[in-house]
Amino acid sequence: MAAPTPTPTPTPTPTAAPTMWIGRVSRPSEDRQRTVLVRTDGRAPQPDDLVEEIADPFAAALPSAGGDAPSDALVLAQQASPIAGGVRAPIGELILRPPLRPGKIICVGRNYAAHAREMGNEVPTEPLLFFKPSSAALAAGAPIDLPRGYERIDMEAELVVVIGRAGYRLAREQALDVVAGYTIGNDVSCRDLQKKDGQWTRAKGFDGFAPLGPFVRLHPSGAPLAEDVRIRGSVDGTIRQEGRVGDMIFDVAAILAYVSACMTLEPGDLVFTGTPDGVWPLHPGETTTVTAVGFDLGELSTPLR
Ligand code: MN
Repeated sequence: MAAPTPTPTPTPTPTAAPTMWIGRVSRPSEDRQRTVLVRTDGRAPQPDDLVEEIADPFAAALPSAGGDAPSDALVLAQQASPIAGGVRAPIGELILRPPLRPGKIICVGRNYAAHAREMGNEVPTEPLLFFKPSSAALAAGAPIDLPRGYERIDMEAELVVVIGRAGYRLAREQALDVVAGYTIGNDVSCRDLQKKDGQWTRAKGFDGFAPLGPFVRLHPSGAPLAEDVRIRGSVDGTIRQEGRVGDMIFDVAAILAYVSACMTLEPGDLVFTGTPDGVWPLHPGETTTVTAVGFDLGELSTPLR
């Protein structure tokens, strides 16, 4: 009698750490936007993943929300219970909205040396800051109606820091404590107006010029991202931009310390951290895609019309 075939020892499945994601969705039949929570095993949410509606943790963490103590959107999200009668459905059955209602959108210009050089600028000795209006926020998958009559509108693939709790005059060593998580963004920029106006308000501020998401990945308070995480920008599937987070001139902690020396960072504020070189001119009919490599933040695709 032949010896029984030994039962193979099951290879332990590598269990990625559970990850929580915050987004906003609408039911197909309504305009109302609802904040939702998604849990995954570390990968970005997929169409089959179930979302559950929760109270907006960023709004609830604002000092003006009237809580007993300064609160932290990261903690509120981690402790959130689904709203009774709220949305509970697979992502694929819902309309994605920008993953939060942004407060300030603070942006850093020229934060990668190769990008500063490609634009003919000096490498800055301190962060160069500007704002985008919150009305520029655009959901993943939603189209931009490119304004007509300009020579050059570029994509800028960027890592976006999501602020979870208020902070003012933060020391660099404590600055990451106010971070709730990360997402990716596209700092769409009209070069004609950037040169003509001097101020960048119009160049960076058209409706749709801040594609964002699809979700905010919550991240442990105070923990930096790995320096090898790369931010990648593609147009119609061809990679045009890629930069390492570790190659930023000013890292996330330095940026948050610098910004908060001037203004209070508040829950729901976003910080666009600058773009690698390879910024690329855009045309109607193309599709831009921004992803992070080595730290899954999902895929931010934007059709251009
Ligand atoms: Mn930018």
